[in-house]
Amino acid sequence: MNFSFHRSVDRIREASQFLPGGVSSNFRLGIAPTPLVFDHAEGPFLHDVDGNRLIDYYLGMGPMILGHRPEPVVEAVRRQLERGILFGGQSEVEFEAAELVCGMLPCAERVRFSSSGTEAVQAALRLARAVTGRGTIVKFEGHYHGWLDNILWSVAPTPDGMGAERTPVPQAGTAGQDAHAGQLIEVLSWNRLDLVEDRLGRGDVAAVIMEPAMCNTGAIFPEPGYLEGVRAACRKAGTILIFDEVITGFRVGPGGTQARLGVTPDLTIFGKAVANGFPVAGLAGSAALMDEFATGRKVMHGGTYNSQAITMAATVATLRSLQAPGTYEQLERQGHRLMTGVAAALRDAGLSATVTGFPQIFHVGFGLTSPPRNFRDIIGVDRAGYVRLTTRLLQHGVRVLERGAWFISTTHGDAVIDETIDGVRASLAGL
Ligand code: PMP
Repeated sequence: MNFSFHRSVDRIREASQFLPGGVSSNFRLGIAPTPLVFDHAEGPFLHDVDGNRLIDYYLGMGPMILGHRPEPVVEAVRRQLERGILFGGQSEVEFEAAELVCGMLPCAERVRFSSSGTEAVQAALRLARAVTGRGTIVKFEGHYHGWLDNILWSVAPTPDGMGAERTPVPQAGTAGQDAHAGQLIEVLSWNRLDLVEDRLGRGDVAAVIMEPAMCNTGAIFPEPGYLEGVRAACRKAGTILIFDEVITGFRVGPGGTQARLGVTPDLTIFGKAVANGFPVAGLAGSAALMDEFATGRKVMHGGTYNSQAITMAATVATLRSLQAPGTYEQLERQGHRLMTGVAAALRDAGLSATVTGFPQIFHVGFGLTSPPRNFRDIIGVDRAGYVRLTTRLLQHGVRVLERGAWFISTTHGDAVIDETIDGVRASLAGL
């Protein structure tokens, strides 16, 4: 196979006259050999402007759970286009989507839709502060909840890897972040129940927000009893528990991590897989909390494009497709085939690496010798080495996220997965 990316290189250079860096998101910068430029996509495949066909594990950074251009979603969107795009009011398709979401996520009695996970997080924080009358939000190292100033905080690892649990520093190290915006955020090391219990004991924390199974900087499950312990501590302290399931919601099962692990938060944020690539996210939770948006305190939440009809049609079609019997079992099976194949290839190449997470979203921790427990264990990953691998994978027609995550869709069948594993083995040879 001969994969060349010259046209992407040229077009990114030319587009940089109009788009900073030739891209519209910083997450797309700095990708070797170049940010790619795509022409079209179908099922598990991306087709770029150089004419390459790439097996896609980026999946739009997670949303494309049914693969690219699934028939039911394309058809539903086509039908909705004939009926209207944005009404500045409610629609039956929005009500149908809301009922589906509430039927699937355990904590969801009510839902508010938004256009991005970042916005839904903001609605959650505001609601939690409104109902508790408190200001402080607790988050965890390495957990990502959007790119806004008031939540893009993590913790600088100290040389000994511990300490400084409560000192927030910018997660993405971005210039221009309002330093004051971190004053009400306290960052703890995840999977440490003692730290949560200790901090919540002071009775001034509005909300604890976390990825209930960490999928961003690495894929890490909560330790047995951790989620249950945080749930109990929140209840005792009158603190709102928020699960950010933007990645895991509708991906790891119909009810997300909260259903899989059997711990129900007060509020949850979802996005990505809910609409298979259309910009939909949302906040869901108990009626008592969520109704505060409309009655009682009338907590402010808005958005011109919230529940725009095309995106709602895509949501309904996606969720109905996901509800078809056997869908999640198939995803799990195929994800397992891929995960074990990648792990075996790494092992056979004599590399120390961990492959952790759900089968539907997992991470490769290059250079790690044992499964990570929290963000501090991931700091030592060989990022440069892994980026080299992802660049070589492109030469074998496989596109994966440079940060270690692999997403799978229902269209990744056995043949595609086996071709991928061959590509991994070939890429690892002589790395
Ligand atoms: N929360 C989590 C857990 C995420 O993974 C992301 C995005 N990757 C967000 C929030 C932000 O979502 P969006 O990019 O749609 O704003």
